[in-house]
Amino acid sequence: KKTLRLILGDQLNSKHSWFQNQSPEVTYLLMEMKQETDYVKHHIQKVVGFFLAMRNFSKSLTETGHQVIYLNLDDEENQQNLETNIKKLIQDQGFEKFEYQLPDEYRLDMQLKELCEQIAIPTEAFDSEHFLTERNFLKDFFKGKKTYLMESFYREMRRKYDILMDGKEPITGKWNYDHDNRNKLKDPILLVPPKVFKKDVSEILDLLQKMEIKTIGSCDPKHFEWPVSREESLELITYFCQKLLSSFGEYQDAMYSGDKFLFHSRLSFAMNTKMLSPLEVVQEVEKYWLAHQETVSIAQVEGFIRQIIGWREYMRGVYWAKMPEFKTMNFFNHDRKLPDYFWTGETKMSCVKHAVDQSLESAYAHHIQRLMVTGNFALLAGISPDELDEWYLGIYIDAIEWVEITNTRGMSQFADGGIVGTKPYVSSANYIDKMSNYCSGCFYKKALKVGEKACPFNSLYWHFYARNESKLAKNPRIGMAYRTLAKMKDQEAILKQGDYYLENIEDL
Ligand code: FAD
Repeated sequence: KKTLRLILGDQLNSKHSWFQNQSPEVTYLLMEMKQETDYVKHHIQKVVGFFLAMRNFSKSLTETGHQVIYLNLDDEENQQNLETNIKKLIQDQGFEKFEYQLPDEYRLDMQLKELCEQIAIPTEAFDSEHFLTERNFLKDFFKGKKTYLMESFYREMRRKYDILMDGKEPITGKWNYDHDNRNKLKDPILLVPPKVFKKDVSEILDLLQKMEIKTIGSCDPKHFEWPVSREESLELITYFCQKLLSSFGEYQDAMYSGDKFLFHSRLSFAMNTKMLSPLEVVQEVEKYWLAHQETVSIAQVEGFIRQIIGWREYMRGVYWAKMPEFKTMNFFNHDRKLPDYFWTGETKMSCVKHAVDQSLESAYAHHIQRLMVTGNFALLAGISPDELDEWYLGIYIDAIEWVEITNTRGMSQFADGGIVGTKPYVSSANYIDKMSNYCSGCFYKKALKVGEKACPFNSLYWHFYARNESKLAKNPRIGMAYRTLAKMKDQEAILKQGDYYLENIEDL
């Protein structure tokens, strides 16, 4: 049967069983569409990255003898919408069957299901052969439980895939080295430059301009830094193992004004587009560690592997267990507008400025910047989770809803009331100062809670706890904060300072 097989922009998995055989009956379809460039305002590097990776993928399929239809954004016949393009192709070219891989986003899942109901030819959905678990694995694993414990899911993945294991036990006798991984960067001499790919992307930038695609941030036309092919993605794994892994875990939570990437792998885009599979990434890292134990300690490696087969996989399970309700959750009923400086970086708060500036410049911030700087500030200030989702979904090169929303609404904003995390991730200036060098040189003073120069994180931290007492005081992991608040002599002045900052939030 003459078959049309759809490949979405985040389904660039060259190892998929679809591609094991060539057939004259099968045509693959990739499409650059306004539907995808416009569902949220994306960072310009994100759009460029996706289009380049899709073009490379299409080229490699053609080179290996597959038939491909590739719709460029400015092709005349491009209807800019998934259903319309597919319906038209089926009609014009007489396809007799339509096949697709299960999408990772709820919106596309719905759209494809609807499309399949509307077209007359047989349809079939396939697994994307990327994740370690099936869509509903986590939901079934935690059946009947109110909270999902990441650690038990993670251990199950370790066992199931025999990663860092010796039979049924962890290879070093210990499952988790999180406690060893909380250091500040004291010596910048340790820093290693990132592996960047200096590509000329002027052609795609011209296309985006011509088609009037609205984007955020900037993109150097001559130096595009992200991997956009499987070969480049594999190079990034090698670089990570050889240069960064030995310090990864130790400085995983550190922030430093002089370096955007520190020892992070920058592999999220390559994995989220499926150019790399999570299993091959962790297996490569494990293999490297086994051969280099004298220079790479287990704490570095376990920390990295946990992020991928633990957190990443777990977030995907939470998404499918809780969508579409997850998208509407707002435990604290937060509704404040996101301040303008999230879009411009123009704020006196040095930590927020650094995180936003580098996000606009590189479409990247590492986990602790997202969680403990921008996310923390937004939660303390009571920003609407809808506005925040839009921001996080747009600005990061790796942002796809299944992993963005679970991290933002769930882990960072506790808007899910405690499905992903057991308590809100909030902190005063203390934590930011402990993990970074941002506070030195900041307009605000980290030690002050009250007054013109008081760090906003300090008063807003207590303001957050005070205003949410009825929702949080019963949480056993938070009781201590309420006991401290009750004993504070200057409580009234601090809360007043918090009120003042919230009223004048655009001026911070
Ligand atoms: P590394 O630090 O090198 O980590 C290795 C890999 O582990 C990452 O590539 C990623 O695949 C995985 N990982 C680490 N932490 C997480 C996590 N919490 N959830 C899922 N995977 C994780 N990650 C995304 O891929 N897309 C997003 O849209 C996204 N949005 C986020 C929003 C917020 C508010 C927060 C707090 C985190 C978000 N993350 C997101 C998770 C994490 O910040 C990024 O995966 C990471 O910064 C990517 O950089 P890296 O590849 O250098 O990661």
